[in-house]
Amino acid sequence: MLTHALDRLLHRPRTAIGAILMLHRVDTPDAEGIWYNQHLKMSPRTIEEMAAYAREHKCRFVSLDEMTDAIRRKRNVRRLIAVTLDDGYRDNYTNGLSLFRRLNIPYTVYVCTKMVEGEMLYWWDILEHLVLTNGRITLNDGRTFDCAAKEAKEQAFLDIREVILRLPQNDLLSHLRELFSNYSVDYRSGNDRLALTWEQIRELSKEPLATIGNHTCSHLAFSGCSDAEIREDIMRAADEMQEHAGVATRHFAYPFGEASAVSRHDMDLVKTLGFTTSATTNQDYVRYGTDPLELPRLFVTERNWKQVLDGIIAHC
Ligand SMILES: [Zn+2]
Repeated sequence: MLTHALDRLLHRPRTAIGAILMLHRVDTPDAEGIWYNQHLKMSPRTIEEMAAYAREHKCRFVSLDEMTDAIRRKRNVRRLIAVTLDDGYRDNYTNGLSLFRRLNIPYTVYVCTKMVEGEMLYWWDILEHLVLTNGRITLNDGRTFDCAAKEAKEQAFLDIREVILRLPQNDLLSHLRELFSNYSVDYRSGNDRLALTWEQIRELSKEPLATIGNHTCSHLAFSGCSDAEIREDIMRAADEMQEHAGVATRHFAYPFGEASAVSRHDMDLVKTLGFTTSATTNQDYVRYGTDPLELPRLFVTERNWKQVLDGIIAHC
């Protein structure tokens, strides 16, 4: 009898109190571009519209610290929304800083430090350019991909992306040079345009609404890394952030945070590193009882934001 009652209690759906939104870029998507890349962008106008819709429906924008405080204390709250932005794109500063200030929305920017250091390749940006400017792509091994019509370009992007993801990730640059040896490509073209600078990070860290988080140094898929590599990549990012921007990072987001890319073992390892929160990309609402070191997030885009918000409004 008692066991049954306990079972019911333990399996009762835990009350959802809100959600953490995952964004990447604050910029207007290019309708002519490849959607898989462009969906990382949300335009300032859409973010403004989303904020108005959320507030109309009694949602409240909070920082990650307020969100975790609400979980821990089981405060009687509903429809909390925390905004996070992954990777450390420059438009988070150039477009985001003034926008979020005007809308009075707290947000967390998870910075990958190799992006700032100009050591990370924006190969997805390069691939988009190749696919858009060619009618057909021929790889070094002779495989060809039709890129004539827009639909074919979208498919070619996804197919070649799969090829790139299967390349050895160390010394990716020389592997890409080989793969695209038929084309002349400026592999560093994205670095000066797309990444935050240390100066901008320092400035963001002084902004009361902004929180700077750790998104590792190299943005590696943990599934292919040893424990030592994972620990080293996270701690190096923390050290660099402290040294170059004077920021002590207390919040962490997994690179590739879906369940298939992060094991239970990896999560337990990250839990020993002293962060206040860790964010995954598991699609769920935040509930009383959610582990702050395994926060779920909802991916919002220019196309799906209303649906995501309606879900929060219905469930939280
Ligand atoms: Zn990322």
